[in-house]
Amino acid sequence: MANTPDLEFIKSLKEAGGDTLKKCYQCASCSVACPLSSDKKPFPRKEMLWAQWGMKENLLADPDVFLCHQCGDCTEICPRGAKPAETLGAIRAYIYTFHSWPAWLANLATDSRNLPLLVGIPSVVILILWLLSGAMHIPSADAFERYGYTRFFGHWDFKWYPKNTTFIVSIMVPAAGIAVFSIIKGIRKMWGLMSGKANLHPSFRPSIMMFFNEFLWPSLVETMKHTRFRECRANVDRARGHLPLVLGFIGAFILTCWSAFRQDLLGLIWPSFHGPLPLTDPFKTLANISAVALLYGIWVLWGNRLRHEKRGKSIWTFYDWFLIWEITAVSVTGLGAELLRWAGMPTFGYIVYFAHLVSVLMLFLYMPYTKFAHIVYRSMAMCFERYRESAFAKNTGIW
Ligand code: SF4
Ligand code: SF4
Repeated sequence: MANTPDLEFIKSLKEAGGDTLKKCYQCASCSVACPLSSDKKPFPRKEMLWAQWGMKENLLADPDVFLCHQCGDCTEICPRGAKPAETLGAIRAYIYTFHSWPAWLANLATDSRNLPLLVGIPSVVILILWLLSGAMHIPSADAFERYGYTRFFGHWDFKWYPKNTTFIVSIMVPAAGIAVFSIIKGIRKMWGLMSGKANLHPSFRPSIMMFFNEFLWPSLVETMKHTRFRECRANVDRARGHLPLVLGFIGAFILTCWSAFRQDLLGLIWPSFHGPLPLTDPFKTLANISAVALLYGIWVLWGNRLRHEKRGKSIWTFYDWFLIWEITAVSVTGLGAELLRWAGMPTFGYIVYFAHLVSVLMLFLYMPYTKFAHIVYRSMAMCFERYRESAFAKNTGIW
């Protein structure tokens, strides 16, 4: 790939939060201040230079862009107000879109002007399926108490597989499938570019198990412990908000797996497992705790973001806010639907549950193109950081 200046790339970085990057005069204070930068591979000074010159290929192949945790220490210290933390955020946003598939969906999901469409498309899909299911009604208080939302898409007498599960699976699984396919395609491209740039041609490649044990698992443990986050100084609140958010997602993931196992497998043997989880079920409790953790985390991050914008340390970007809005919508509607079920209010309950389905579908569908994708891209960049220093790749590259 020729490494020529790309003016369009510079323009898109400026629009996505890197509006101040031209102010950088390469003093390197940011690289000294960054708690995650090493003497051997300092950042973000070099990324600021590459961004100024539109050297897109260098940045697309640079794992350091993803090793940054956007703590803002560099932005605090920058004597020119060049906001390197925001520039790196803008570069990451560009990389998600660049690698994502399909391109039209990536372009749609990264432009704030498309927000009505981004909400409208999932809403229409769920509304049409609700119409097609023939279940367009609000249940009686008795039916609501008994079945909760498990008959939102209606009921049929085929006891082995409920109608509601069929409809929900037919909506969420294709959306999750597109997201997973897009993300796998993206990280393969990213890994290929990083390996090429680092000139890695290892003669011995690790097996999948080796890769997991040596590189992926330690990266995931480090992410879970928030080791790097805790090294930040200017923006310690981010770790306080990010940790409950991550734990909330893990709780929601466990619940989704249990629900699928309960409904789709155990339900084939014992049809009674198709009903709603009892309110006293431990998994129900886990779901509620996860929703509260998500809400707490997002409240801290929301306030933190607003404070930084007010102080001029960061600017409003759709890339940062869209994910905050999405997670807020999923948690508020999830918890709200649960509380309305407790309160026995079917009409409001069904409306809020509809909004919950829409927000969950948005989260799945737009995952590869929003900040949510950093979970995967950052983890893989952390793996690459370990990999390029390992015996598999050592002494074969320029890093
Ligand atoms: S971003 Fe700021 S601190 Fe970093 S090199 Fe440029 S001027 Fe210096
Ligand atoms: S935002 Fe924090 S982690 Fe990222 S480059 Fe700046 S100081 Fe380093």
